[in-house]
Amino acid sequence: MAETPTELAQTARRGFDAGITRPLEWRRQQLKQLDRMLAENAATIEEAVRADLGKHLLEAHMTEINSVRTEIALTIKNLKRWTKPRGVPVPLPLRPATGRIHRQPLGTVLVIAPWNYPVRLLLIPVAGAIAAGNAVVAKPSEVSSHTSAVLARLFPKYLDQRAVTLVEGGVEETTELLEQRWDHIFYTGNGAVGRIVMAAAVRHLTPVTLELGGKSPVYVDESADIDATAAWLAWGKLLNTGQTCVAPDYVLAPPTVVPKLVDALRREITVLYGDEPRTSPDYGRIISTRHVDRLAGLLGGTGEIVIGGESDRDEKYVAPTVLTGVSLDDPVMGEEIFGPILPIVTVSGSDEAINVINSREKPLALYLFARSAAVRDAFLARTTSGSMGINADMIQLGAPALPFGGVGESGTGAYHGEHTVRLFSHERAVLRKLRGPNLTAMGRPPFTARKERML
Ligand code: NAD
Repeated sequence: MAETPTELAQTARRGFDAGITRPLEWRRQQLKQLDRMLAENAATIEEAVRADLGKHLLEAHMTEINSVRTEIALTIKNLKRWTKPRGVPVPLPLRPATGRIHRQPLGTVLVIAPWNYPVRLLLIPVAGAIAAGNAVVAKPSEVSSHTSAVLARLFPKYLDQRAVTLVEGGVEETTELLEQRWDHIFYTGNGAVGRIVMAAAVRHLTPVTLELGGKSPVYVDESADIDATAAWLAWGKLLNTGQTCVAPDYVLAPPTVVPKLVDALRREITVLYGDEPRTSPDYGRIISTRHVDRLAGLLGGTGEIVIGGESDRDEKYVAPTVLTGVSLDDPVMGEEIFGPILPIVTVSGSDEAINVINSREKPLALYLFARSAAVRDAFLARTTSGSMGINADMIQLGAPALPFGGVGESGTGAYHGEHTVRLFSHERAVLRKLRGPNLTAMGRPPFTARKERML
């Protein structure tokens, strides 16, 4: 009989307590196994992702298999360096002594993932938790059910079940998992559930990482290269049919830019998906009919549909859509769109754009298209966001030395590359005295007149 979520959590904790996960050799071997799992089952996993999200197998390969394998390869290569103690300077009065920071595993980690990149968003944190020497329980999203089932079947074949396991399920199973005691919870998804996760973590003072979403704004300046901007925006908005947490959500642009940008976007969408995206094998589908209905509902408002606008619930299809003349109160400017709809709001210039952005929640990503250094400096100095792309969108994710995460409503904590290992480690401060006693005597009673004079 399959183990319950509680039993699996307890197994992982026993595995950690027994010391299985600590040796670098074990970590390296598990990372290699994770990589083998992806390499040997790439086609099966890509088919599952296609069944969930209708995306082209090549897109699934690039965004789900390749990106995770690249991260694992980088982690294996740097494992020793990222986990070894580092020396820090010690102030003169404390010497002779050494100061070192030791990265220690936290213990047992829970990773809860969403459906939109169901492999990547589960396995990059899992790999990082293993690399840092933890035991892990992975909880994929029940919404991407095909991918969840494939990963559940593969985990026991490749990974050490004493310390790395997977629990399938939805709210009920996740709630049961959240009742357990964890040493870290890593959650990716929407902010409403993020709050549930944080509230559950309070009970045991468990640290949490929340990778959330929200509306990632774009400003297209008069100084921008409009054709290049349209190429980035069409690609960024339509990859995974807009169901990407850092997808450009809405555009702010001055009146002179808007018509040129719309023409260029129309051209770019045709370059990517032809005249009829519905029949293009490269254009994906929306995860569920509920989300198709939600997206269709966002189109009512003052904005004019200048590209697309069609949807088909049976096919879970929503056309690449661009709206102009959108007002900040329109439904499409309320929640995160998470679909292939791009509203354009006309603003007078960069100052008004900055004010609009700052009047809203802190975004996960902010994109600026401008050649003007003054505009770039203004955005860098006066706005905030988890990450920022200048004259490009989405690819900030591809640089593992850059921390990836949100700020405020868009999340807390960041990962990728070495940042993931740091996140899943406790940095223990170790001071070792080499000889003694020493000058710390200043701070010890008796506090004589002589000591007072020395101050
Ligand atoms: P989802 O519905 O799959 O939920 C995420 C996880 O939470 C799932 O594993 C699910 O089982 C669990 N869950 C759902 N309801 C729960 C409850 N009541 N109690 C406990 N657990 C529960 O995915 P989603 O939230 O729709 O994902 C989309 C959101 O995630 C978007 O807002 C997107 O921007 C954000 N996102 C953020 C990132 C990032 O890296 N910052 C990446 C991808 C998605």
